[in-house]
Amino acid sequence: MNLVERVRLFFSEHKIIKNNKKLVKKIPFLKMDDNYKRTWLDEVPYGWQKFALIYFEKIETILNDHNAKDYLRITEVKEKWGKLRIYYSFVNNPKYEQNKWIEDIDRLFATLEKESWKLCIDCGAVASYQTNDYVTPVCGKCKEVIERLYPNVTVTPKS
Ligand SMILES: [Zn+2]
Repeated sequence: MNLVERVRLFFSEHKIIKNNKKLVKKIPFLKMDDNYKRTWLDEVPYGWQKFALIYFEKIETILNDHNAKDYLRITEVKEKWGKLRIYYSFVNNPKYEQNKWIEDIDRLFATLEKESWKLCIDCGAVASYQTNDYVTPVCGKCKEVIERLYPNVTVTPKS
């Protein structure tokens, strides 16, 4: 890497870190680590990010309303069987089972996971198809791209 490339990389990283800090300030449970190069939002497949952010904001509002900003920790985010899966736990509150607002948060995460199946994992449009290798939801446009790039993958209307 030459000097110009290194300088460019430094500034793009600087910008990413700045944006991530802004995001984490707004939604603290998206913080992954202290270097801010990535957040938990980056672990969400691209097509689902906008949709997931709406739910993350709703969840943060509930935490805020109950003075529980530091109570939620995400431990893993992944795609599983065509749906978003988010693993999380509550800290600082051993009696959390009794709190209604925690049930509300559980419900929001469950809805987000369920609804993600309806949206294209690549672009976020309505998904009418599914790939048959790893069963992921895709839209008509992305179906064509996938079929062109990966002739071995079959894409069929959703079952
Ligand atoms: Zn798509």
